[in-house]
Amino acid sequence: MQCDMCGKEDRLFIAEVEGTELKVCKNCASFGKLKGAAKSLQPEKKSKKKEQNIDNLHKEEQKKEIILRIMQGYGLIVKNAREKLGLKQEELAKKINEKISIVHSIETERHEPSISLAEKIEHHLHIKLIEQYEETHETFKRDLRSQLTIGDLITIKKR
Ligand SMILES: [Zn+2]
Repeated sequence: MQCDMCGKEDRLFIAEVEGTELKVCKNCASFGKLKGAAKSLQPEKKSKKKEQNIDNLHKEEQKKEIILRIMQGYGLIVKNAREKLGLKQEELAKKINEKISIVHSIETERHEPSISLAEKIEHHLHIKLIEQYEETHETFKRDLRSQLTIGDLITIKKR
């Protein structure tokens, strides 16, 4: 922004000079009646940028984590697949190098198999036991959250 009187680029003030309001630098302001600091467009731009930065912060603090987990109803999935292949619990146990009691407790869902054991069962029974589960951690800082507008809160809830 340039001074209306001398053209100098400086922080400007609004001053009434001979009945006209002008944006003038500090020096020129002394020629007229000072009315206050001129509001340039620059501070507004800055505040917009700041909002975007806050938005970026939110995104950075959302950590997505892929978690492998055993599917619900895994017991029946294993039992049905085993029976379909005409295998006894004992035979499946041998294939996956586990005791019958392990197979039995998996099928009755008393024992959830580990991911590696589930992979073995998947392989031998041609089934899917493991699912990918995406967990989003939202770790907002309290002071950041307090700066959110109602609109922001609604979009967060929608997620
Ligand atoms: Zn000036």
